[in-house]
Amino acid sequence: MPDASTAVTPLALLDVVLPERDPSERWDVVVEGKSVVEVAPARDGGPDRDAERVEGRGHWLLPGFIDDHVHLREPGLEHKEGYATGTRAAAAGGITTLLEIQNNQPLMTSRHAVEQKLDQVRPKSVVNVGVYGSLVPETIGHVGEMSDLVAGYKLFLGPSTGGIDVSGEDRLRRLFSEVAETGHWLFVHAEDGPTIAAGIREHGAAGAAAWHLARSADAEIIATRNALALGEECGTRVHIFHMSTGGATALVAEARAAGRPVTGGTCPHYLYFTHEDTARMGSVLRVNPSIKTAEDRDALLEGLRTGDIDCLSSDHAPHTAEEKARPFAEAPSGIPCLDIFMPLCLTLVERGLLDIGTVIARGAATPAAVHGFRSKGRVQEGFDADLVLVDPTSRKVVRGAEHHSKAKLTPYEGMELTGWPRLTLVMGQVVHTA
Ligand SMILES: [Zn+2]
Repeated sequence: MPDASTAVTPLALLDVVLPERDPSERWDVVVEGKSVVEVAPARDGGPDRDAERVEGRGHWLLPGFIDDHVHLREPGLEHKEGYATGTRAAAAGGITTLLEIQNNQPLMTSRHAVEQKLDQVRPKSVVNVGVYGSLVPETIGHVGEMSDLVAGYKLFLGPSTGGIDVSGEDRLRRLFSEVAETGHWLFVHAEDGPTIAAGIREHGAAGAAAWHLARSADAEIIATRNALALGEECGTRVHIFHMSTGGATALVAEARAAGRPVTGGTCPHYLYFTHEDTARMGSVLRVNPSIKTAEDRDALLEGLRTGDIDCLSSDHAPHTAEEKARPFAEAPSGIPCLDIFMPLCLTLVERGLLDIGTVIARGAATPAAVHGFRSKGRVQEGFDADLVLVDPTSRKVVRGAEHHSKAKLTPYEGMELTGWPRLTLVMGQVVHTA
């Protein structure tokens, strides 16, 4: 996080639109130190105070997005990514807070591991960062000791990158109970191991064409049901990450309707692509959970609209181009996303699939609520100056070679997106301009 203590001159963002309010109104927004200190109707000459001025020209000022599902591979696999490149990519992609899941060694299984990681990565980060504790067998007995340092705890219920899934009712029950005692959410990668193993036996040989059947909808639905049941039994707040099916979305909605503390998220690749694209494009779209059907995609969009899905997150998962160029069966799963996250979200608005209020809510306000960030997620007086100025009419073609991320191979290559950030502020400091 940048040190804002030396920033003395206020910054005035003049003549901006706050699109979650009346889009015909213009505003002047003043930032001083780390906070937004004034949001007032725009007037000629701007606000009365001494301030460095940025002409908004009627562009959108958005709360910085809070991406609660990111992999940056540091420490351990810095050749794939790291916090210096990853947080620059985030700033370019309109993300001002990212929460990161270590899924390579060393895992976050103790207070000491989390402290070491934070000491290493915080000084190189240009956006706000937080990390999750890892829920693996070694973490049993150590969950509580790191609770004040972590953004929550991550559990893999099925096999994925890093091979760190947990099975066995007793172990799971202990982990769920220990997390319940901390009051944090337990964040789940919900895919059922035995269902995936059976699916791969039956469909795996067909590769990309049948990947959605090998890592099936049932795998996600069964694991979601199991996680919600354990959460209910142990009194744990459960969040289902990166939902790829209408079925899991319905289970989350049902649990919430029954009054249980349950939330969920999804990612752009489940909204832009279907399994037919995976069949056509191969390893570049290999991701866990797999990308499912057009009906699932439509159900996820509907879940975002209704609020059954709380969060949009990137699941940025960098690998080297050489690894992703392997035949489908041997390629690692994961798609990079940070550099283009906000344009991907805003292009869904341009395409008429989501309205702007929904995108801002699922990108910023609801993740802030889920994670208890009381001064983030809105453009409002007294809130943190985590802000993104966007020209909603700007259009640009995605070129992976231009990514700040080390992962340049992207399934969005050549796609024209709208809503590229002009300026990103984190805690009052400019961290990206375009
Ligand atoms: Zn992930």
